[in-house]
Amino acid sequence: MITKVLIANRGEIALRVIRACRELGIKSVAVHSTADSFAMHVRMADEAVCIGPPPADRSYLSIPAVVSACAITGADAVHPGYGFLSENAAFAQVLEEHGITFIGPSSEHIRLMGDKVAAKDFMKQQNVPCVAGSSGPVPSADQAMAVAAKIGYPVIVKAAAGGGGRGMKTVRASEDMEFAFLSARREARAAFGSDLVYIEKFLETPRHIEIQIFGDGRGNAVYLGERDCSLQRRHQKLLEEAPAPGLGEAQRASIGEISANAAASINYSGAGTIEYLFADGEFNFIEMNTRLQVEHPVTEAIFGVDLVREQILVASGEPMSIRQEDLKIRGHAIEARINAERLPNFEPCPGLVATYHAPGGLGVRMDSAIYSGYSVPPHYDSLIGKLVVHGLDRPTAIARMRRALGELIVDGIETTAPLFERLLEEDDIAEGRYNIHWLENWLKDQHG
Ligand code: ADP
Repeated sequence: MITKVLIANRGEIALRVIRACRELGIKSVAVHSTADSFAMHVRMADEAVCIGPPPADRSYLSIPAVVSACAITGADAVHPGYGFLSENAAFAQVLEEHGITFIGPSSEHIRLMGDKVAAKDFMKQQNVPCVAGSSGPVPSADQAMAVAAKIGYPVIVKAAAGGGGRGMKTVRASEDMEFAFLSARREARAAFGSDLVYIEKFLETPRHIEIQIFGDGRGNAVYLGERDCSLQRRHQKLLEEAPAPGLGEAQRASIGEISANAAASINYSGAGTIEYLFADGEFNFIEMNTRLQVEHPVTEAIFGVDLVREQILVASGEPMSIRQEDLKIRGHAIEARINAERLPNFEPCPGLVATYHAPGGLGVRMDSAIYSGYSVPPHYDSLIGKLVVHGLDRPTAIARMRRALGELIVDGIETTAPLFERLLEEDDIAEGRYNIHWLENWLKDQHG
């Protein structure tokens, strides 16, 4: 059994993990950079270790620093949260070699899914429906043109090692291919250290719908429905909801079973998300994330499960307590990502939070690590809170989100909260009529 978990992360997700540890009677260790000495995760954990200066590559991303912190504190497990080292196969492998439990899948599975070409190949073999495209990486612009001629324009050139929406180029005609191909390769090499790229059919107006799966590492896996994350800006999610508006029970069960079976076939362990683009009533696999997602609370709300608790138990070698037949959707949940950003252009807006008041009441969950007097440092992601509401149905959840946003006070810095107040007044949102481009088009209409 795990006795002490080191959380290799910061902010709201570090608190999320500390809370699960405390409820399980497991000790928690926070790590932090010098910029985070006064951060809430440092105060809330049982112990804290400073692991380096503010830049993430010298603190939260430093494998030697995190492993040393485990040695100093005697932590026998690490929870990576999301971002930072959460999908770093080398990190998981180093922990495995040191006899420290990585709370997540094996390094082998992280590596497989981190290579998006290999992941797609694997999913095809498991009969998971995939977006049409090249089979394997595409080595030259000429071959890229040949693939595109076969599947038809428009296409999208994507980095095999990609993430965070970077290194993707949409190509609408063959004369634009050479330039797009070479620039995608260049961007991929700079951002990910690998210039392997592949090609997919560009779907014009899909929705982004992802399936939450959970495996016990022994050949069993369940699915916990889907999340609709189509409301994106620059491929970054801003608002997520579960279930996806309009998705039928039969469709959910069908793609859910396919997704869980793929995970079970490799003895996948822990939480994972299989992401699809949903177009013309069909699911098309794009990638698998081998970690807890930012938006996991909407799934927790509608199923009444604690995914982090389950991650810790399964990593400890306990059986999974979630059974497919018990998983029944109750109501509707929505998450709004509150970022320290200035509208309308979303520039990061770090600084002193003079006053903070969290919304509350029935069906409201605010996951945040800020407090009155806290200073948001400029070095990290701008997410400062996740406002999650749960209601008996979608209209109730929307009304509750609007009510909760009205209660939220973050004085001193600018946030994305006002955006959601306006967004939730839109008929398209009320009726669930949106796709991955809706938000950017709406922002253009609002601000030119
Ligand atoms: P990343 O790992 O960088 O997040 P993904 O493959 O998950 O990359 O894609 C991120 C987003 O890019 C998707 O949610 C979608 O908005 C867009 N996208 C990716 N592939 C396609 C495609 N084939 N057609 C249209 N849009 C796409």
